[in-house]
Amino acid sequence: MRILVTGGAGYIGSHTVKHLLEHGHDVTVLDNLAVGHRAAVPAGRLVVADLQDIARVDQVFVEKRVEAVVHFAAHAAVNESVTDPAKYYRNNLINGIHLLDCVRRHGVTRFVFSSTCATYGTPEVVPITEETPQLPINPYGQTKLAFEKVLADYAAAYPLGFAALRYFNASGATPDGTLGEDHTPETHLIPLVIQVALGQRPHISVFGTDYPTPDGTCVRDYVHVDDLASAHRLALEKIEPGTGMHFNVGMGRGYSVREVIRTVEQVTGKAIKVVEAPRRAGDPPSLVANADKARRDLGWSATYTDLADVVRTAWDWHRRHPQGYRTG
Ligand code: UDP
Repeated sequence: MRILVTGGAGYIGSHTVKHLLEHGHDVTVLDNLAVGHRAAVPAGRLVVADLQDIARVDQVFVEKRVEAVVHFAAHAAVNESVTDPAKYYRNNLINGIHLLDCVRRHGVTRFVFSSTCATYGTPEVVPITEETPQLPINPYGQTKLAFEKVLADYAAAYPLGFAALRYFNASGATPDGTLGEDHTPETHLIPLVIQVALGQRPHISVFGTDYPTPDGTCVRDYVHVDDLASAHRLALEKIEPGTGMHFNVGMGRGYSVREVIRTVEQVTGKAIKVVEAPRRAGDPPSLVANADKARRDLGWSATYTDLADVVRTAWDWHRRHPQGYRTG
């Protein structure tokens, strides 16, 4: 398939591009490089453009004879979405609708959307199934849920088929060392703890130790980024025009913040200094996927089922690229 991947220079996008290419697809990446990395995209595959530039996006659909779209391009920092919601609604929702209209204009009927477990807000029951009520608690989650609704209405009215993948905590790096996680600023737990192990930070702050969880710290499902990548391909290959599918994509196991820190200590052999800090706004106590539906309907399964294996791939990447893609 000839696939356009928006945001394909980002963390999950770049791993998915690599996976799609390895499975014989013809991939074009559209990325404005606001947060993505040129070095994360294979030579000759990148078009640097913004989704606001509708004429340019139209041109790419024609030139590349696009048959399917995987849409990652979005802002994804919860805290920032609270302080600057306009940025999130504009990019995640309005630009997404421009892209969808482009998809319709060019007769494309396969669309994979990167949604998030943040659409569930603070679920009453964990593990989370696709039927768990979606009640986001921050603008980031709201924009992703709003776009899911746009997709459902479009698929009901037009010959569009879509899959919305609700990811849990994307983690790790591809084991051949070519791609990894590089955010500025970094806000995610695993890379931050690894930066402590590398001596780049003095300590890790644990945000909240009084949650209703076994050790008082938040529990998350740290799914390997290559497992997310394969879910995109399987979903893409399964989409039928005029229908929509929703899938949780997670390992199906939860780990607390303290367990993550301990695992990084084990994998790296370094002691990690921990500082207990207040809760971070908007953090639900526990988010763990029930991914049975993806297993059943897509034939997907997580190949990484143990946090230590996930952390090992991240450690390999950060050790070899202490300055991320700037390391060269
Ligand atoms: N966390 C933490 N210290 C940090 C960064 C994150 O204790 O410096 C916690 C955070 O409160 C959450 C978990 O680690 O419970 C995972 O956070 P991350 O930002 O990696 O992902 P999120 O769950 O927000 O998508």
